[in-house]
Amino acid sequence: MSKLAVNDLQLHGQRVFVRVDYNVPMEDRDGQMVINDTTRIKETLPTLKLLIDKGARIILAAHLGRPKGQREPSMSLRPVAVKLQEMLGKPVAFVGDCVGSEAEQAANALKTGEILLLENVRYYNEEEANEAGFAEKLSRLADVYVNDAFGAAHRAHASTEGVARLISSRGGKCAAGLLMERELKFLGDELDKPARPFVVILGGAKVSDKIKVIDRLLEKADAILIGGAMAYTFKLAQGLKVGKSLVEPDKTDVALAALAKAKQRGVKFLLPVDNTVVTPFKTDRLDKKGRPVMELTNPRNNTDPNIPDLEEGVDIGPATAKAYAEEIKRAKTILWNGPMGIFEDKRFAPGTNAIAQAVVEATKTNGAKSIIGGGDSVKALNKAGLGDKVTFMSTGGGASLEFLEGGELPGVAALSNK
Ligand code: AMP
Repeated sequence: MSKLAVNDLQLHGQRVFVRVDYNVPMEDRDGQMVINDTTRIKETLPTLKLLIDKGARIILAAHLGRPKGQREPSMSLRPVAVKLQEMLGKPVAFVGDCVGSEAEQAANALKTGEILLLENVRYYNEEEANEAGFAEKLSRLADVYVNDAFGAAHRAHASTEGVARLISSRGGKCAAGLLMERELKFLGDELDKPARPFVVILGGAKVSDKIKVIDRLLEKADAILIGGAMAYTFKLAQGLKVGKSLVEPDKTDVALAALAKAKQRGVKFLLPVDNTVVTPFKTDRLDKKGRPVMELTNPRNNTDPNIPDLEEGVDIGPATAKAYAEEIKRAKTILWNGPMGIFEDKRFAPGTNAIAQAVVEATKTNGAKSIIGGGDSVKALNKAGLGDKVTFMSTGGGASLEFLEGGELPGVAALSNK
């Protein structure tokens, strides 16, 4: 069912509650919180400009960090209001609460085209609990609801779900913002009826995180290419040795079921034919969680199907990267989620970078639609300076995975149907 979009609405003089994703990285510099990356703010500007053009009275709500119900000053959205004002070139009012008389007065005082940013909704525990009374207080601020925070739409919180239900029950419209609309288009409509061949690339740490996505995509894809530590659970399931690689031994049955389904449906299911392996050593240093830091030494390419007992797989090897790139270059639709190795360490980034290059090339020369399903693959593309050379990069991590699993996200379900 397609959802109402902000373009469908008449908004002149209406109070519009807009849930945005302003969970921006911040840093304390000499006692002042400074925003390190303004991407998330910038991404909301088209929706805000459209709302201004439509004569809406705009009330912005967002969360920042995890204040756990406390008024934690370092997690105030006040610096975001200042930055938004600067980026928009238009005044942005700020109110130090998200509910109550002060917030209500500020919302009611807005004139057409004016903007108000509310304080962090997570200063209240009731936000994450989706507490009915709190959602009701939020709903008093507005006549119409717009959700432009796809990254938070998999959570049924008061500002992402409860408030929309209440506004809707009063006859108010609830619509997707421009950012949200794009997410639904690319992760939803485009993948429902993909141009073929449809090639899916999946990597990352765990099979368990992605098995539902694999299962669903086995119904649609022509080929699935597996990388990351996930590949080692598949190896183990096939009776091969994985040495000290990151694996989930209790998920081999799930891996075997996926392999069987691929065979039955005639989906090409490719696993790495070579890997970069290292010899890990425990050091005396501890990481932030108090675990010993591992030194990954002696990187080499391993073409043997088995990984020796004392070694660990950390990236796909060059032969695998080449085989995967061939498959990707023929694709008309590409979905990529998860890195091919521990790409944060540049010694183990070549596999992920080779995939990124192939995706970019298929987009440019084969007219493929390339859709990047959020999280670390987006980071990897941006790190390689290729972020603007793919068709679409999702802004959601957990939300995009849940959406790709086929379930309806609470924040999307709460929007009005067209
Ligand atoms: P995910 O959030 O599931 O997409 O996983 C991303 C993480 O998987 C990244 O931090 C990578 O460093 C990690 N990763 C990818 N390949 C490997 C590997 N072979 N061994 C250990 N971690 C890996």
